[in-house]
Amino acid sequence: MLSVKDLHVSYGGIRALRGININIEQNKIVTLIGANGAGKSSALRAIMGLVKAEKGSIKYDDRELLGKSTKNIVKMGISLVPEGRKVFSNLTVEENLILGAYTRNDKETIKKDIERQYELFPRLKERSWQKAGTLSGGEQQMLAVARGLMIRPKLLMMDEPSLGLAPLLVKDIFEIIKEIHRQGNTILLVEQNAKKALEIADYGYVLETGQLILEGEGKELLNNPKVQEAYLGEM
Ligand code: ATP
Repeated sequence: MLSVKDLHVSYGGIRALRGININIEQNKIVTLIGANGAGKSSALRAIMGLVKAEKGSIKYDDRELLGKSTKNIVKMGISLVPEGRKVFSNLTVEENLILGAYTRNDKETIKKDIERQYELFPRLKERSWQKAGTLSGGEQQMLAVARGLMIRPKLLMMDEPSLGLAPLLVKDIFEIIKEIHRQGNTILLVEQNAKKALEIADYGYVLETGQLILEGEGKELLNNPKVQEAYLGEM
């Protein structure tokens, strides 16, 4: 479905990605793990057309994404839930969801999809008229995910959805990711919580200073001593 080849991204002199290759098959959960500054967000931003790649290719169903506008990439069915719960604070929960569907104009199905998000996130339903800025951190994160689903993505990319959440909410978020996957979505998950991410992932990539150092099935990476030592706080 998505095939990233030899992707390079730089910011001025900083080489954030130095030639990475990632493959995502339909209906899989793929995770990208790595320490702070490894280049994880840069990879997602490049796929979304939010930063320019210096070199490489990003094929989505055999169509090249590099050079396309973010709006077109969204229209092709890719959605990004950015890091840090970037919801529109002054708008209500429901207005945020409506805006999530900005590339669509099928009013009736948009309504139905809002109801679907409320089924997935009952907390948001109770708070549909609340200003997003007054939601708790966890609720804002859920809203960010629900909004990402409003474009009916074929590929949903999430940048550290568990960041800063209390352990119980982290568990909830991972349950929700599994449920979204069960409903037929393909997911690219960027996480610092390597253990949880690898537990649910079909396949994983480990990024270190802009380069992939390991890849394999989620369970395989979980049992890899190198991964355990560097990312799982074990050994
Ligand atoms: P984190 O887990 O901390 O979010 P990350 O793996 O997502 O990290 P990136 O955000 O992709 O890493 O950053 C990779 C490198 O690129 C870092 O050294 C970072 O400082 C740098 N970088 C990212 N964005 C910019 C920017 N807009 N301008 C300059 N440097 C940047």
